[in-house]
This record gives sequence, structure tokens and C-alpha cells, in this order.
Amino acid sequence: MAQRQEQLDLAVVIGLEVHVQLETDTKIFCGCSTEPADEPNTRTCPVCLGLPGALPVLNEAAVEAAVKVGKALDASIPEETRFHRKNYYYPDLPKNFQITQYDDPICQDGELECPVGGERRTIRIRRAHLEEDPGSLKHKGGSIDTAEYTLVDYNRAGVPLLEIVTEPDFRGAEEVRAFLAKLEEVLEYLGVFDASRDGSLRVDANLSVVDGDDVGEDGSIAEDVLEDANRTEVKNISSHKGAEKALSYEATRQKNAVRRGREVEQETRHWDESRGITVSMRSKEAEKDYRYFGEADLPPLRVAHWKDEIAIPELPDARRKRFHEQYGLGAEAADKLTSTKQVADFYEDVAEAFDPDLAATWVADELLGELNYRDMDVTDVESRLDEVSRLVELVATDEITAKNARETVLRTMLDEETDPDTIVEEEGLGKTGGDEVAQAVDEAIEENPDAVADYHAGEGGAINFLVGQVMQKTGGSADPGDVNQLLREELS
Ligand code: ADP
Ligand code: ZN
Ligand code: MG
Repeated sequence: MAQRQEQLDLAVVIGLEVHVQLETDTKIFCGCSTEPADEPNTRTCPVCLGLPGALPVLNEAAVEAAVKVGKALDASIPEETRFHRKNYYYPDLPKNFQITQYDDPICQDGELECPVGGERRTIRIRRAHLEEDPGSLKHKGGSIDTAEYTLVDYNRAGVPLLEIVTEPDFRGAEEVRAFLAKLEEVLEYLGVFDASRDGSLRVDANLSVVDGDDVGEDGSIAEDVLEDANRTEVKNISSHKGAEKALSYEATRQKNAVRRGREVEQETRHWDESRGITVSMRSKEAEKDYRYFGEADLPPLRVAHWKDEIAIPELPDARRKRFHEQYGLGAEAADKLTSTKQVADFYEDVAEAFDPDLAATWVADELLGELNYRDMDVTDVESRLDEVSRLVELVATDEITAKNARETVLRTMLDEETDPDTIVEEEGLGKTGGDEVAQAVDEAIEENPDAVADYHAGEGGAINFLVGQVMQKTGGSADPGDVNQLLREELS
């Protein structure tokens, strides 16, 4: 019997509801700032505090951001979109209802392709709708049920969210992680999202297990099977890594239950990050519990034409492909150089000004490498990219050696915030007339990659060959011993 149970073939099914904070200056229905504040309840007004008589006014920037996401997800934007009130009573919601969208969401039927283990998977997007964020509760001296008291902060109330709902297309936790990473990448490219902002991505995940025999060859599962499967909704997931951990745990928990002949309860569960487990919160609310009805204070919004009027930038996958074709970059370099829009834009500037290969080395390897070593990224040196570009120029025009540029100038630039020309001057790194030999050494190295490879492979004769090349270039005027030494330094 035990053996038969173990053989039970079960498949995992996951669908997501991803809440992303849209980057706008002001809240979705009032003029309060969305910038985080040190003091609670300082970014508030009668509208986002839900005071009697206050009326919402829709923020155009939030709609624009949602349309951009819709275009990036290849979703359709309806002729008209409307807002609804979702009613529930909870202290983080001052009006006792949340303004959200119900049956005419702003984005419908999209998809997002993401790489999973060397393959490309397409996840269907059912819808994406705009809504306001509730405030935040701080339970003092414990968790929600043990705290002595709770504080409420309405600074977050009214911050624009886009809730993106997928079809139940995920067949495992690692797919969810890949999808979220891709989604964040796209959102950041669009300039509507800031991943570094606390709580800017929050995920509710629905998970069920079904009989493996119900999964078709192409991975599809019949509607009625999906509907009949008991599922749990896991809340409080706030990162890709968290999603993978929470859902691996939940998948195992459900599989174990089914294998032991128990039924999975349809309920809402809470991901407890510190304990690494999901815990039961409550039985799941049904839609009718929310008594949705139309938000009469906001007229329907005609949005269809916005789709044509709002442009979106080239998206990361397309840009990766173009970098490969246009600049001849390999997959790894193209990946690195398109990791964020800012890096990609900078790379293209440098590539166009100097040389695509040189730019790839300097941006992907040297700059990103040094930044990574310092636990920084390009946003930290945003205002100094001109200086990095100048450094590449110094190398491109042969004013300094690549070795000096890499080992002295770039590192000093980052550590001491000095500009490259100053460093070159102070350290005396400029190649002057006397540096004819140094230049010949650089050339000999560049022109003879095979000899360089032999040298690195430990072949003693290779260095003599390179010395010979340099001697030839300098018309025999250089000292072979010096040349030998210089070559070894450059090659180390
Ligand atoms: P609800 O009625 O609870 O809102 P929906 O059908 O609207 O349920 O779907 C909500 C989310 O649950 C969607 O993200 C969807 O992909 C997901 N979902 C639907 N069926 C399943 C299932 N059998 N297993 C896992 N997730 C599912
Ligand atoms: Zn306000
Ligand atoms: Mg929701």
C-alpha cells in the first residue's frame, strides 16, 4: 500500500496574482506624494484618508503606466475601462472599500515569455487591473494575534498598484521565479517600476496538485480539472527567491497530504519567511463577500486610443537579439549588457562613439565587474558615466594602456571619485613619446593572440617571439631585457 502511494504521479499547478507598485509622483486618486516618508501619516489628505465628502480624481500617469505594461505584455486594452468598489472592513482601509477594477480591467489577455532551464515558456496573462494600495499596519510587540497594539500608517494608502493575474500556467516553483524575474526586468525597462523600493512587488500565489494523467502532452490541463482541484492561496510573498521557496514548500505539503489520502483544504495561507513554512490563515473569501459595485465617483475611462499614443521602449529580449546582430556580441555579453535599460543605453553610447568590442569589454567586464566587487550597480555611478566613457576614450585613442586603465584609473575613479584625466596626470600614466616601446608592446600583444595564448599556457618560447616582434617594431632601438619585462607585466 505504502508503495502504491509513493508511485502516485502528481503535477503542480500554480497561478499568480502579482501586485506591482507603479512609479508615479503622486497617488492614484489624490495629489499626495508617493515618496516614502520618515514620519507616518504625513503623506495624506482627505481623499486617501477616506474623509466624508472627499472625491477621487484619477491620476493620468498611473493609467499611462498601466497601458505601457499592457503593450509590453501584448494585452488588449479595451475601448472603455471602469472602476469598482471592493468592500471589506479592515483598519488599513479608511473608506472601508478599495477602489479597484472588476469586469472591465485596463489590460486583458496578454502573455509573457520567460526562460526556464534553457527553454522558453509562455505564461498567459488573464488580466491586469489598476487599484489603490491600502495603508500599512504595524503590530507592536508581536504578530497580528499576539501584539499589544497596532499602529496604522496611511502614507501608502492610495499608492497606485497594478494587479497582474496569470492563468494557472506554471508547473513548478522555479517557473514562477523565472517569470517574476522577467516581469521585473520588463517593468524596469518600461520605467514604471522600481524593484529596489520596499514592497514594490507582492505576490499571491494559487497552488494545487492534480493527477499527472490529467496533464496533456503539451502541458495543458482541462478547465474542469483546474476548477475542481482544491487550491490554496499563499500570501505575503515579496521576492523571486521567496516565491520559489514558499511554493516549493507548499507543493510538497500538498503532495504529502494527497499521498497520505487527505484532502487539501481550500484556504488562504501565509508565507512565514523566517520559519520557511506556510501557515493557515483563514478559509478563502468568495467573490460575493466583497459586494463589488461600480465606483460612481469615477466615470468610465475611454482608453483604447491611448495604446496608439503611448510609446514603449525596445524590450530586453528584442534588444538582446539586436545587440547580437548589430554588434556581434555573444550571448553572455548581450545578456549582461541588456540587464537593465541604463546599462544597455550606456553600452550603445560607448559602442557608437568608439568601438562595439572595446565598449563590450569596458562596460560588461571592467565596469560591471568592478561595480559588482564593490556591491554597487550602475545606478550608483549614474552621474559619472561620462567619466567612464572618457576612460574608454583614453584607451581607444591609445593615450593610456589598457592595463593602466583597468588596474589604476578605473579602480581609483570608483574608490576616490576622481575623474580619469586627473588620475592619469597625477599618476603619470600618459603614453608620451618615450612610450614608443610600451605602445609596441601593446601592439605586439594585440596582433599575436596565438603567442599570447601559448605564453599563458606556459610555453617559454612564446615570450621570445613577442620580444622579437617588439624589437622589429621599434627598429631594434629598445632594450630586449626591458621589453621582456614589460611584456610579462602586460600579460600578467
Ligand atoms: P478566484 O475565483 O479565486 O478569483 P480565479 O479563477 O479567478 O479564482 O483565479 C485566481 C487565480 O488562481 C489565477 O491566478 C489563476 O491562475 C489561479 N488558478 C485557477 N485555478 C487554479 C488551480 N487549479 N491551481 C492553481 N491556481 C489556479
Ligand atoms: Zn491623499
Ligand atoms: Mg486582488
